[in-house]
Amino acid sequence: MSKLFKRTKILATIGPSVMSEDAITDLIMAGVNGCRLNFSHGNYLERDEQIAWIRAAAEKKGRSVAIVQDLQGPKIRLGELKGNHLDVKAGDELTLDFACETHDGGQTLPVQYNLADKVQPGEPIFLFDGKIKAKVIDVSSSTAIKIQVQNDGFLMSKKGLNLPDTDFGGDIITEKDMADIEFGAARDFDYVALSFVQKPEDIEKLRQILLSHGSSAQIIAKIETKKAIESDVNLEKIVEASDGIMVARGDMAVEAGAEVVPIVQRKLIALCRKHSKLCIVATQMMGSMVDNPEPSRAEVSDVANAVIQGADAVMLSDETANGKYPLEAVKEMKKVILYTQNHSKVTPLESDPVSASKTYDAISSAVARLAEKIEADVIVCQTASGATAASLAAERPNVPIVSVTSNARVAAQLALTYANAAFVRPYSEDYGIDLARELKNTGYLKPEEGKTDLLAVVISGSPRAHGTDTIKIRHI
Ligand code: PGA
Ligand code: MN
Repeated sequence: MSKLFKRTKILATIGPSVMSEDAITDLIMAGVNGCRLNFSHGNYLERDEQIAWIRAAAEKKGRSVAIVQDLQGPKIRLGELKGNHLDVKAGDELTLDFACETHDGGQTLPVQYNLADKVQPGEPIFLFDGKIKAKVIDVSSSTAIKIQVQNDGFLMSKKGLNLPDTDFGGDIITEKDMADIEFGAARDFDYVALSFVQKPEDIEKLRQILLSHGSSAQIIAKIETKKAIESDVNLEKIVEASDGIMVARGDMAVEAGAEVVPIVQRKLIALCRKHSKLCIVATQMMGSMVDNPEPSRAEVSDVANAVIQGADAVMLSDETANGKYPLEAVKEMKKVILYTQNHSKVTPLESDPVSASKTYDAISSAVARLAEKIEADVIVCQTASGATAASLAAERPNVPIVSVTSNARVAAQLALTYANAAFVRPYSEDYGIDLARELKNTGYLKPEEGKTDLLAVVISGSPRAHGTDTIKIRHI
């Protein structure tokens, strides 16, 4: 039975390729557990449509689906270039001017962020996703910097810049982000992801802003800057300050070199498990499926490795947002996840989860091992805040977890958590067992071939306990 469930979740980016309730319903039925709204693109009108479609689809199908708001952060882009093209040669000197409104075809280019008070001469600056390498040579006014290009090539409008050695001094939440946060708080997103995080203070700042807008969204730190990964101590502090992280491999490769990405990915999955935080592996997982109906061998291998390493979720970006085969991408991904989990152990790097309370942690560890030893069909987890479910997931059991909570927001957040199928039911002392019985009756949970009972390990708190204190074994 457990083999039917995929334990590694799928987060899909919503965009022009899936602009209807039907298309989003199809994605969810094919295996999508969470939807990412990328606030680097699109407008509020479209966002409201998409939110309504996701919520309607989830409701209709009785699924918990997380909505992730992805904030652009200091993703710095060029403005419009004349004719959408500018040839550059090694040695060329260009000025990037925040005050420049239109490009006249010359060497002064508009840029969407004032870099003048951030950069130091000598720092590297990469343009067009790393295709053009340059160096800062001068801060030429209060809005303009001068850079020297180091290789031949060309630039286009709106292409991104990366400044791997520039310290933004804790100033990574832009005015656009502030407006987007306010928009998001009113829509009650489950997660807010922040791009280009450099240090734990960036996350603490976002948390304060979210609280000031009355939002209780959880925070995902996108790990993609050289500053974030430079020191292991800083990286771990970012993980601890966040509720989860995204291994944002696209910008990370530009900033730090593609060769560092697999090692950082492995390290981050382990750190997240250690601290019971969510870990999402992102970018180009099925990249060739933007244009092709089948993934490449390397992509299949990439997804399988993320599963074996113990990621909570794998992400699709352009594949579902702008690709020709959004539904196929999800189906292929799910197929790889299921095959891999059913034929290999999940083997995260060694580290025991450490949660705030040791008892808590010990119970989760005992439940996971117990369920595996007695070959339980399911772990049933009664969870009020989601913390018990997250702590169980950190053990990466090979048994699916059915979580029940009376809080719809908690269920939506758990949609991205390893091995968790989360349901909302009114609280009662045995609502987990009641739910398991109900799911057995509807055929969602099936006993093993030749058996009539489901073997369940149930974990719960008693009303008298301050947290989880009870483990039961039940035939259902
Ligand atoms: P992005 O983040 O798609 O918002 O840039 C992911 C990445 O950089 O990999
Ligand atoms: Mn990025």
